[in-house]
Amino acid sequence: MTLARADLAQVTAYTSAPLAGITLDLRDNVNLWGTAPAAMAALRDLRAEELLAYPPVDAAPLTAAVAARLGVRVDEVVAGNGSDDLIDACFRAVAAPGDRVAHMEPSFSMVPRFARLNGLEPVGVPLRADGAADIDGLLATGARVIYLCSPNNPTGTITPESAIRRCIAEAPGVVLLDEAYAEFAGLRDWRADAPGMEKVLVVRTFSKAWGLAGLRVGVGVGGRALVDAVVRARGPYAVNAVALRAATTALVQDEAWMTRTTAEAVASRTRLDALVRGRRGVRAWDSRANFAFWQVEGDAEAYAARFAESGIAVRAFRALPGIGDALRIGVAPWERLAAIEAPIAACWP
Ligand code: PMP
Repeated sequence: MTLARADLAQVTAYTSAPLAGITLDLRDNVNLWGTAPAAMAALRDLRAEELLAYPPVDAAPLTAAVAARLGVRVDEVVAGNGSDDLIDACFRAVAAPGDRVAHMEPSFSMVPRFARLNGLEPVGVPLRADGAADIDGLLATGARVIYLCSPNNPTGTITPESAIRRCIAEAPGVVLLDEAYAEFAGLRDWRADAPGMEKVLVVRTFSKAWGLAGLRVGVGVGGRALVDAVVRARGPYAVNAVALRAATTALVQDEAWMTRTTAEAVASRTRLDALVRGRRGVRAWDSRANFAFWQVEGDAEAYAARFAESGIAVRAFRALPGIGDALRIGVAPWERLAAIEAPIAACWP
């Protein structure tokens, strides 16, 4: 007897296994400058009462702090157990089994998985040559949900504001705009406008710029009806009391730290990309996130193995549609990242 439902065979588990001999893990695009300092201090002051009770079901005070900062209503904000949880809940909230989810291809690898887990059909639409979303292609799918990611994971490329605006205007259903790396790109913040646009949910995360990936906190902003649907599809208590305290404190007290470390991440990425520009067999894409994306000739896994010999783990992608093999390399303070020069010279002399 097979216990799992039959269509689960199409879904592979996400893996990010620890690697032996690695001293610098650049696979997850987290903030290697550290974690939001006031948030850390707040965790040390946790009271027992905060743990014996259930956390606030509406994730207040975090949702209230986000709403106040953006000038939106608190019922236009929803929090989740990472933005993963919000992407999953949003799909389930707006699409019924058999509906389509159109997404940029390549993009965040959990997106087609969450679509399938909710009985939906993921439809990947290749990026344009400049790395932006192909809005016409996405609209042509007629999908119930269009997933946009800007800056995009894994390419780091952005989709221009005018293209996003047109996608929202012409989409037959909901647009899910994933801004996991927005703090590094300094582009237009769509969150304040999302409630008025009704069919858009903008999601951000505390896992990247804020250095709190271990706590799993994501926040979505959108129209009241859409947010209400996501809340119902998500279920209660998704953000635990420890995470709520840290994320709220970070938002209110750690902005200067976040701004400084994201600026350093951008400087580090610029320097990292400069190391390969002009070398044959490798092409740095125009990433605006806290990672570099290098399209490579030959086997990405073999290149990643060369980096691992220097104690550095990078993410290898094989045969990405329209791109081929590539490496995605998160950034770190340059004192730590400088060790990458040796494997680069070995791979692309
Ligand atoms: N969206 C994108 C584009 C991501 O790269 C990631 C993490 N890799 C996520 C969402 C999920 O982030 P989290 O669940 O940690 O908030």
